[in-house]
Amino acid sequence: MSQLNNTLKLLNLKDENIIFYDNYLSEGVIKGKRSLIFEGYLTYTPEGCPCCGCVFDKNIVKHGYKLSKLTVPKISNLASYLYLYKQRYKCRHCNHTFSCTTNEIDKYCYISNNTKHSIALEATKKISEKDIAINNNVSHSTVNRIIDSYQSHIKVCRNYLPKNLCFDEFKSVKSAVGAMSFNFCNADTGEIIDIVEDRRLYSLTRYFSRYSKDARSKVKNIVIDMYKPYIVLIKTMFPNANIITDKFHTVQLVNRALNKTRISLMNKDKLNYNKLKRYWKLLLRDRDSLNHYKFQKYTCFNHLMTEVDIVDYLTSLDITLNESYLFYQRVRQAISSKDTQAFDNIIDTHCSNLSSYMITARNTLIEHRKYIHNSINCNLTNARIEGINNLIKVIKRISFGYRSFLHFKARILLISGLIKPTYNSI
Ligand SMILES: [Zn+2]
Repeated sequence: MSQLNNTLKLLNLKDENIIFYDNYLSEGVIKGKRSLIFEGYLTYTPEGCPCCGCVFDKNIVKHGYKLSKLTVPKISNLASYLYLYKQRYKCRHCNHTFSCTTNEIDKYCYISNNTKHSIALEATKKISEKDIAINNNVSHSTVNRIIDSYQSHIKVCRNYLPKNLCFDEFKSVKSAVGAMSFNFCNADTGEIIDIVEDRRLYSLTRYFSRYSKDARSKVKNIVIDMYKPYIVLIKTMFPNANIITDKFHTVQLVNRALNKTRISLMNKDKLNYNKLKRYWKLLLRDRDSLNHYKFQKYTCFNHLMTEVDIVDYLTSLDITLNESYLFYQRVRQAISSKDTQAFDNIIDTHCSNLSSYMITARNTLIEHRKYIHNSINCNLTNARIEGINNLIKVIKRISFGYRSFLHFKARILLISGLIKPTYNSI
């Protein structure tokens, strides 16, 4: 009896109606792999006939066994199978036959529920679905099916939204309606709230209109990048929310403009091409963090220099680059020192020699002035959602891409912990 219990524990089975034969364990080759085979039978006295509904009496008689070959989780890294002989009964009232059933396995299914659970648990880790299939000795499509079964577990509460939200997008699967999909999370905890297939305005408006007006009006702050439709969306759907443009995106905007200015100069000035190309990072760095006392030899320069000397040399080459550089540095400093007044002064002061790229960037800053002020005045950023987007990229890469958006979404939510696999949920 204790051996029976141990075997049930070993296979992680709970049903004590499963009884193992005396010589229940053997080794064999199944599908070309060395495998462990457990043999047992399932029997109990049924309450009645499931076909006609009559209660158990002498007219329900034993009627042989039916063999089911079940896949169970691997043991000692060997594929394991349970050959389960299920007791069959015949009902003489209705002349039908039926088999004993167990909670360990679903009807018409040959993969035990604990194998399915183990697959779901592995699907929460950052490993490819093919590897999950190999680890659990099942086919890739079984893994797919189990992950897909979690789609129905995605439940979004339409009557509540957190006070602070982050909006962002990520490159979606090919079959998705829009090229980019939209995700949004709680800005304080970083918890994903939902993922929407299409980030275009009309689809997001339709999506958010499903939330109650009360939930939407309680949202206080929303952090976004500088994607215009989000602003329109927030103004129409979130009447009381402050729009905050993410600091990182603001700096990135001027950063890119400066880089383009440098490249256009680089392509004109063949003499300094190498220097402009090699030391691009120094131009983009915060000027205060540059080294100004350590002289050393730098490639492309003949004499000893400091990092500040190099930057000064590069900016002295061209007045447009110089002014764009100064503009960039001032914007960075105003944002990092949280000085809205200084920020206004910088973008309102007319500079005659800014590059065309920087002028465009400045116009964007002027346009988003109010939202950038909000970002300077509060500590909310998009950092958490950018982290989620990185995770999404990793998920996509480990699986070499996804075809179905809903499947991809289920996997993202499993890995990020929003859906938790439970034994009964399959
Ligand atoms: Zn019957």
